[in-house]
Amino acid sequence: MPKVLIIDYDIDLGEFVSQAIEDMGLECSVTTSAKEFLDSASPDTTLIILDLLMPNVDGVELLRMLAKRRCAAGIILMSGIGARVIETAVELAATLGLNIVGSLQKPFRLAELQEVVRKHLVPAAAVASNSHPAIAVSEEDLRGAIERDEFVLHFQPQVDMVSQAVTGMEALVRWQHPSLGLVSPDSFIPRAEELRLIHALTWCVIRRGISMLQRFATEELPAPVLSINISTQSLQSLTFPDELLMLLSCYNIQPSQIMLEITETGLLDKLASSLDVLTRLRLKGILLSIDDFGTGYAMMQQLKRIPATELKIDRSFVSQMLESYGDRIMVQKTIEMGHELGMNVVAEGVETVEQLEFLRANYCDVAQGYLISRPLPEDDVTRWLHQYRPA
Ligand code: C2E
Ligand code: MG
Ligand code: MG
Repeated sequence: MPKVLIIDYDIDLGEFVSQAIEDMGLECSVTTSAKEFLDSASPDTTLIILDLLMPNVDGVELLRMLAKRRCAAGIILMSGIGARVIETAVELAATLGLNIVGSLQKPFRLAELQEVVRKHLVPAAAVASNSHPAIAVSEEDLRGAIERDEFVLHFQPQVDMVSQAVTGMEALVRWQHPSLGLVSPDSFIPRAEELRLIHALTWCVIRRGISMLQRFATEELPAPVLSINISTQSLQSLTFPDELLMLLSCYNIQPSQIMLEITETGLLDKLASSLDVLTRLRLKGILLSIDDFGTGYAMMQQLKRIPATELKIDRSFVSQMLESYGDRIMVQKTIEMGHELGMNVVAEGVETVEQLEFLRANYCDVAQGYLISRPLPEDDVTRWLHQYRPA
């Protein structure tokens, strides 16, 4: 049975929390003393609920001691001293390698506490089945896949916050593996980068993307801007802008129908050597987007140098912005900064109506996420576009 350990200076609150956890059918012990707490924490403790504010030893010290012992239990932090302090402690604990599974600001409701506990105690198997199995990709496999063009695209629509019209479509690559089935990009893109095969793979994506744009045209669907994810390796190729433009003109596609997405971290790593190609792409009319924004700590000074037209807020901020003060500020400031730099701001990973409303109230321009649609295969996305009506 899962074992829960609580340390709270306030014995009444400790007992109350303990009772609520026992009501969930779990074994629970509670203490007010740091020493007793450390003595009782054992390798079979599943969950620790820890008050950050203790009189003799503070919660942060306790976290350090737990980290020293390589504590693997899930930890829920509680405190009555403001959301910011909890968030900082959560970050600190994560850098110490501790497994923080939630935080609670006092006073909290019983239901809130039980929800956090329940989430952590979902059987590990259920969680694992949602994630993609890591696959070992050999150089040969990947080279062969590129030669045989085993990649397919799924498309995820983006909608304007005000008019709700579909303004864009992001092309997301998947590997149609002969024996493994559909493999997600997280399982092979990093490997393709490492093997320096990503540029060749990107050409497969570009060609597929272009044929999709032609299909939209034949089906008389309004032409959305097609977003394509690009590695900075492609930006080191000085011939890339001309080659791309040539291909587009062969198929009679305007450069302004193509948006290239480059991650913020990638850009920061290779800013100086990428600026040449980025600027020429932009001069030729291709649109540029900074993807996963917020994960790379770009400074306003650096951002100003990148000739991008769009800023995409990373979905990790969007998913937590209604619960986390820090993420909310990050989202609001990114929207303001993007607009000041003349960029369109896109929120990725929008999953709920509440998130959409918050983004709209804060003047975010475009939304992309499961709330609007999951990434869809070619046939499904054309059907989706035919049926789509702004609400
Ligand atoms: P990304 O460019 O940031 O793409 C967005 C990812 O978020 C996609 O994952 C998409 O399925 C997922 N997503 C969209 N809406 C939601 C939502 O509401 N909730 C949640 N939880 N997730 C959402 P996907 O397709 O697995 O792609 C992962 C990453 O792989 C992409 O992140 C991109 O960095 C990379 N990638 C995909 N295709 C390509 C490609 O053609 N070339 C390169 N270089 N990278 C690619
Ligand atoms: Mg992207
Ligand atoms: Mg992204």
